Amino acid sequence: MQLILLGLPGAGKGTQAALLAERLGLLHISTGDMFRQAAAEGTELGLRAQRYMSAGELVPDELTIAMLLERIRRRDAAAGIMLDGFPRTLPQAEALDRALAELGRAIDAVLYIQVPEALLVARLTGRWGCPSCGAIYHQLTSPPRVAGVCDRCGATLTQRADDQPATVQARLDTNRVWTEALAEFYGAQGKLHAIDGTGEPAAITERLLAAIDGVTSGTGKA
Ligand code: ADP
Ligand code: ZN
Repeated sequence: MQLILLGLPGAGKGTQAALLAERLGLLHISTGDMFRQAAAEGTELGLRAQRYMSAGELVPDELTIAMLLERIRRRDAAAGIMLDGFPRTLPQAEALDRALAELGRAIDAVLYIQVPEALLVARLTGRWGCPSCGAIYHQLTSPPRVAGVCDRCGATLTQRADDQPATVQARLDTNRVWTEALAEFYGAQGKLHAIDGTGEPAAITERLLAAIDGVTSGTGKA
């Protein structure tokens, strides 16, 4: 099975993709994570990507597509993939369709997690992490006992550069138009399933699984 999670930044793609991949035995591929890892390792790709990421801009298609296609051609992707954060532009979607066709595969379903934009902003700007032990907090759902201080180790919490308010707005603006274009592209292929992305994470997972069940059992679209 080849699945795509579509949604604006903050829609919860990463959390849900990890859970679903585990439940369904798929390889979770997040281009955001791949870029962050490359940046942390200081590779040339990582350093180039970093400049765009910290400004809330998209990494150019040429770099992104090459990295992703190389990943899906590896053997551990053959059992099925859960794409999170890719495709993010129409050229990426078209390149993906072509590459999968060469492998004798195709996208089965695109799950579009929809969340009102005001809630996205609140979710994105509220995320804080501990640079020392890696703990993650959120002002809305899991605040630290003392604001700005790690419960576990006492270090001062920091925000990812791209979670800072000005960058968050830029990320939403950059992604909104493309996300709508992608929804239309996959809608025309009859593969788009809209999922309500508000409420408890577990409830959202259930909605996603129900939509995927509908696809694998051949019933109608959600
Ligand atoms: P978010 O969904 O919150 O933007 P991600 O972790 O998915 O976070 O991505 C972080 C950053 O990595 C993006 O803002 C963008 O700069 C870059 N990126 C990730 N995936 C892509 C992609 N498919 N195309 C272009 N840039 C990407
Ligand atoms: Zn800590």
